[in-house]
Amino acid sequence: MVNVGILGATGMVGQRFIELLSDHPTFEITALTASQRSAGKKYQDAVTWHMESPIPEAIQNMVVVGTDPNQLKDVEFVFSALPADTAALVEPEFAEAGMKVASNASAMRMEPDVPLVIPEVNPEHLDLIEVQQKRRGWDGFIVTNPNCSTIALVMTLKPIYDQYDIKRVYVSTMQAVSGAGYNGVPSMAILDNIVPFIGGEEEKMEIETLQLLGDFDGEEVILPSFGVSTSCHRVPVVDGHTEAVFMQMNEEFDLNNLKESLRRFQGLPQKLDLYSAPKNPLIVREEDDRPQPRMDRLTERGMAVTVGRIRQDDAFSRSLKYVLMGHNTIRGAAGASILNAELIAEIM
Ligand code: NAP
Repeated sequence: MVNVGILGATGMVGQRFIELLSDHPTFEITALTASQRSAGKKYQDAVTWHMESPIPEAIQNMVVVGTDPNQLKDVEFVFSALPADTAALVEPEFAEAGMKVASNASAMRMEPDVPLVIPEVNPEHLDLIEVQQKRRGWDGFIVTNPNCSTIALVMTLKPIYDQYDIKRVYVSTMQAVSGAGYNGVPSMAILDNIVPFIGGEEEKMEIETLQLLGDFDGEEVILPSFGVSTSCHRVPVVDGHTEAVFMQMNEEFDLNNLKESLRRFQGLPQKLDLYSAPKNPLIVREEDDRPQPRMDRLTERGMAVTVGRIRQDDAFSRSLKYVLMGHNTIRGAAGASILNAELIAEIM
């Protein structure tokens, strides 16, 4: 077994890590960290637990430690679910101390030598790890997964981008409250309401999308030239981000062929049969009223993205539109980091 630690283990994403890793065949949780408010407490006393399943028995009485590499013994991987400002300071310390950091935080995502990876989309960007270790003199490294709404979007863009010349993409999101963390959105702000602003989200989606679909030339990632514009909104859904996507191409396309590419989409995790890999990363639905968060978010244990309402957009030439939905704390966060770590453990 590989010993792993969870940084920020008491938060929304940290809890999801615990749930997903509690019966993992190769990763064993041996350390949990959080802020000084929680350090020294038993996990069950430090956390406000929100998962559907109970706290795993082996975790309940584990003592939470401060988020400091010196507090962790014999840990190979750490999964980071820290706030971005804390991550910016401490993730490099863990990598410098020789640990492999799989991070959810945005802090290091756009560093030119830190891979931003979705295993089905751009596994070749993991070669940046060597560049990073050389440049920074670290024995460990940091690998990141994208923001929750970007992951679901890019998984649908990849098979289309591989086949067609995309001109521009517009996305309007309807994002769940769990995406903001436990203390993120007060119930009085979101019940019976929609909040049409999520700080920093639009910028992250726009740049991360291009980074993920860029070509790695051995030193850096060269961004594709199409434009991405997003508008992000918080809605009163607990889990599952929904996105309405509008796309124009530079060429004609065949809608049935495009749907088939989405249906057949697979990547390295499926080839290698990684434990957390969904059999089908994209589920295409034909009903007029799908996807829906409550009905579709747990498809393939929350690791698949559901796509529906794929149709020609007759308002503009060479255009289409569709709706997608992905589980933001599984495929969009903890599950994404775990799949990155499984891929690294398998191929490096
Ligand atoms: P959260 O619920 O607010 O949890 C934050 C965690 O970090 C808690 O364990 C907290 O410990 C710990 N923490 C806070 N300040 C700290 C400090 N100064 N030093 C050490 N630990 C500290 O946040 P979250 O929603 O889980 O998000 C975690 C990260 O994942 C963020 O960077 C977020 O942007 C990213 N992310 C979230 C989602 C999502 O859907 N929620 C998706 C993708 C990415 P205490 O309990 O002791 O305060």
